[in-house]
Amino acid sequence: MHTPAHSGVGDLLSYACDRPLPAGTLVRVPLGRRDVLGVVWDAEDAPGELPEGATLRAIAGVLDGVAPLDRSWRRLVAFAARYYQRALGEVALAALPPQLRDLQPEQLARRLRRPAKALAAEGGTDAIKNIALSAEQESARARIASEPGPFLLFGSTGSGKTEVYLRCVQEALEADPAAQALVMVPEINLTPQLEERFTARFAPRFGSQAVVSLHSGMTPPQRLKSWLAAHSGVARIVLGTRMAVFASLPGLQLIVVDEEHDPSYKQQEGARYSARDLAVWRGREQGAKVLLGSATPSLESWHASRPPTPEDPEGGRYLRLHMPSRIGAGALARVRRVDMNQQPRRTVFSAPLLQAITERVARGEQSMVLLNRRGYAPVLHCTDCGWKSDCPHCSAHQVFHKTDRTLRCHHCGYTVRVPLHCPACGSPDIHSMGRGTEQLEEQLAALLRNVQRPDGNPARIARIDADTTKAKGALEAQLAQVHSGEVDVLVGTQMIAKGHDFRRITLVAAVQPDGALFSSDFRAPERLFALLMQAAGRAGRDAAYVAAQGTQSEMWVQTYHPQHAVYEALRKHDYEAFAAQQLRERAEAAMPPFAYQALVRADARTQEVAQGFLSAATAAAHAAGLPGLDVVTLFPPVPLTVQRVANMERAQMLMESPSRAALQRFLAAWQPVLQATRAQPAHKGLVRWLVDVDPLTI
Ligand code: ADP
Ligand code: ZN
Ligand code: ZN
Repeated sequence: MHTPAHSGVGDLLSYACDRPLPAGTLVRVPLGRRDVLGVVWDAEDAPGELPEGATLRAIAGVLDGVAPLDRSWRRLVAFAARYYQRALGEVALAALPPQLRDLQPEQLARRLRRPAKALAAEGGTDAIKNIALSAEQESARARIASEPGPFLLFGSTGSGKTEVYLRCVQEALEADPAAQALVMVPEINLTPQLEERFTARFAPRFGSQAVVSLHSGMTPPQRLKSWLAAHSGVARIVLGTRMAVFASLPGLQLIVVDEEHDPSYKQQEGARYSARDLAVWRGREQGAKVLLGSATPSLESWHASRPPTPEDPEGGRYLRLHMPSRIGAGALARVRRVDMNQQPRRTVFSAPLLQAITERVARGEQSMVLLNRRGYAPVLHCTDCGWKSDCPHCSAHQVFHKTDRTLRCHHCGYTVRVPLHCPACGSPDIHSMGRGTEQLEEQLAALLRNVQRPDGNPARIARIDADTTKAKGALEAQLAQVHSGEVDVLVGTQMIAKGHDFRRITLVAAVQPDGALFSSDFRAPERLFALLMQAAGRAGRDAAYVAAQGTQSEMWVQTYHPQHAVYEALRKHDYEAFAAQQLRERAEAAMPPFAYQALVRADARTQEVAQGFLSAATAAAHAAGLPGLDVVTLFPPVPLTVQRVANMERAQMLMESPSRAALQRFLAAWQPVLQATRAQPAHKGLVRWLVDVDPLTI
């Protein structure tokens, strides 16, 4: 039986019940003075003999209306808990819809009766209207149908990957009336688009209940409804974000992970799981095919799908499928680099870029301008005394937001009104430094003041970022404006670079992408390249439109390092060359995917306490001669890049090993040592610690 992880209760607990319950049954059990949700666990994992004289408490109720969670679901949860070093109960409960935790058995029974009525009527039998696949698509489809996988579908933006997903899903569902498919996308805001496409395709054939979504933007009742539909087999297709990897899908036969390289597949709190990696594990475990898709695969997946060579006759464990051609879309955007060393100092929009945007507005085409920093400016400062708008609670600046005249910390949320005078010396001479999307929007409006659209109206500029899309439905409304052509230039963060099918955008510009080139994070160039390739893929998506306009789609990059390998590869749209170069570097430095990593992070009021805990736990690990240590390197603790957040000092240490199994063995053995270390009086000041296995940012 399983219960929540907080208050240290994380493992299996025993309860009495007057009838035998199969493993996977959902129950309510007393814990302390509360009733909580639990899952009956497999007898072979039971905690063993009860202590002398102990008596069992009885379970409070059984959630009868819900079939027990099947063995493959339980194995997935148990694996995730073990692999990511979290309590089983925590992972199991986080994997269930939150409302299940709150509903009493009677309430749930009522809920279950309701949708049952609506369901029966449905059951379309209409044939699916398929479009003819291109030769590349057909070849990918055929191999997916005939081989076990996992597959890496490496296809340019607009190569028709989604069409391949649709066809594979269809084949799986038609072959077996109980079959289910799971399709994952990285961002919530991409799910409505995808849902529309899947529903349009499959509702006529499998009924309107066949397609459901699962993501954190849904209300608790919606989530419960989708979850139950998947669990009961009524839903044949589940579309969702990373959390959907834990959906109960008894008939699962196919898992698609679209944009598999996207960092948002990695959960960044609680159990820090990778939904992509769990998808691969789950597929193998449950006998479902796994299809990863991307135009810029993660180097891990790219390496795992390397074809066999004479020196490496095995090759990788994934099968790589290649779709280089764009369908229905124009040629890939021409990449234009602007050498900012040649531009006047403080230039935001170089003259040639501004000229290009202006021409496009005048022709009625749309442009997109990217900057990965929201707000007006990253910091305010005083020219008299040097004061800066530092967050009092973090080692970070408060960002200047002009729209509502606030200074906001993007790490802890601490917000104050913008001061009129320097808070330190009283000088009125305070200025902003650097720029964010708000400022870009403002400057662009000024620069395009006299530019007219073909209809004679002035150019219209819109901004989309986390600030403009906070309200529910705001993003949809703003995207609709872009699609309808009301907007000429769209300014935004990476939020707009992903996935959206803008039909009339012919120019995309990254105005200041250099930051990532010299980051201490070894994955930064990989992420930048993926982002720029994806952004470039937003331009010229509609070949007919591009042809009718007689235009050429372009991707502009303003940079101080025009010769950098990232931009060279981008210019040629050459992911393969980029990946090969990065993998060579990674191999030489013995970094992932040629090594496996984990982090332990410690938070405390002082950096000394945080690092002290990590050092002590390391010493204890060596003293105990823990298994795996001979092939696991433990690096010394260091402060995080943003060292203090919300008055908490943060430190971390890295572990690395060429063997994943050895790292896992070590982590499992270290867990109790970390716990024991924490209990020592010397580490009283430690607030929390956590393990991040296969961390994405270091
Ligand atoms: P990707 O997911 O690789 O970016 P999509 O599957 O969204 O690409 O396809 C891009 C565009 O091409 C879409 O508008 C889609 O409807 C169209 N398309 C895909 N496959 C075909 C095909 N075989 N014939 C005609 N149009 C297609
Ligand atoms: Zn001052
Ligand atoms: Zn702060």
